[in-house]
Amino acid sequence: MPSTPITPSRRVGSAASSSDIREILKLTEGRSIISFAGGLPDPATFPKEELAEIAREVIEEHGESALQYSPAPGVTPFREALAGFLNSHGVRVAEEDEIVVTTGSQEALYLAAFTLVDEGDVVFVESPTYLAALNVFKLFRPRLVAVPIDEEGMRTDVLEEKAKRLASEGYRLKMIYTIPTCQNPSGTTMSRERRKHLLEVAEKYNLVVLEDDPYSFFSFEPVDAEHLKTMDRSGRVIYLGTFSKILSPGLRIGYAVGPESLVSHLVQVRQLVDLHSSTLSQYIAMEAIRRGVVDRTVERARRIYREKRDAMLEAMEEYFPEGSRWTRPAGGLFIFAYAPAGVDTRAMLPEAVKRGVAYVPGSSFFVDGGGANTMRLNFSYPSVEQIREGIKRLGRLLSEKAGQSRPGA
Ligand code: PMP
Repeated sequence: MPSTPITPSRRVGSAASSSDIREILKLTEGRSIISFAGGLPDPATFPKEELAEIAREVIEEHGESALQYSPAPGVTPFREALAGFLNSHGVRVAEEDEIVVTTGSQEALYLAAFTLVDEGDVVFVESPTYLAALNVFKLFRPRLVAVPIDEEGMRTDVLEEKAKRLASEGYRLKMIYTIPTCQNPSGTTMSRERRKHLLEVAEKYNLVVLEDDPYSFFSFEPVDAEHLKTMDRSGRVIYLGTFSKILSPGLRIGYAVGPESLVSHLVQVRQLVDLHSSTLSQYIAMEAIRRGVVDRTVERARRIYREKRDAMLEAMEEYFPEGSRWTRPAGGLFIFAYAPAGVDTRAMLPEAVKRGVAYVPGSSFFVDGGGANTMRLNFSYPSVEQIREGIKRLGRLLSEKAGQSRPGA
């Protein structure tokens, strides 16, 4: 070890700031704890046999290309197959668009932020929103502006009001980050009207819209709204998608689709980061699309996750104390719960872990504080039995805490 400690850059220092929650959740590793904390797909959705067959064939028949370096934007026939797949699922890929295949949509988030955000630029985010996106944005020191959500998704009236004020104060308005369908963590879906309004605000203030959509393909209930990408008429939406939940996260295949004028910058930057995404994974994903494996996996995932969501909702109904409420997501992997007022879910976590159940305190997902009584509950990974038992334990603990926090109790 050097005698004088070597410190990472300030940028890394802020990104790697230690999290008490991470420390507590580490305690769950290797123990028989029912965890609602993660966001892992159910491995039962992985089409193992079909992927094994595809991988063997791809290597045997196309090994010279599939095991080789490949172009930065992605393997050309894969991008073509992807464009067809997206169009058939209601995501409009226009003539002037470009697709870049990324190493998970997490990389696409990083590339978009790196490419678009200068220090001090205003980035509007839903409150609450996906924690790992917030952490990526923070690397580039923007002014993150929280826009609350309700059961119709982002409050675009608040968005407009904040945009107007910040523009008049001379801030550079740059981007709106949104997960409009089956949002993480809240599970809400943005209504048609709000989507329209969001795009109007974006046009008025010349904002890029980053539409992050890992969940809409396997929603369990019909979603009565088009993708922002499909509604966009002024070339300002970058749509992010991923194969993580509809095939396998281990393949690390995501993508960004948007106007060539914007996406070409993402391609330039990605060449500095990882040259290109795994060629082999792209070949496998391409064949999985062509052979209908992705569509079949989506159907399986839909069935499995609907059953698990319903099991969790039912158990919450039975065990959560009066004064709690929660979302009823049309898809995705999470339910967002509001404990009775006065319960601090962050402070309660160590006790929950002691009783063999874990979750993520919701306050982590708010940029502007708040959400002290909220929690995010994952239903995709635990079994139906674990869901029932875990919610029962959590419900008991919540009842005790709610009792303690009631005045005079
Ligand atoms: N965006 C959102 C909203 C997510 O929930 C996730 C992961 N669950 C990602 C992006 C990143 O996913 P991946 O990198 O596996 O595509």
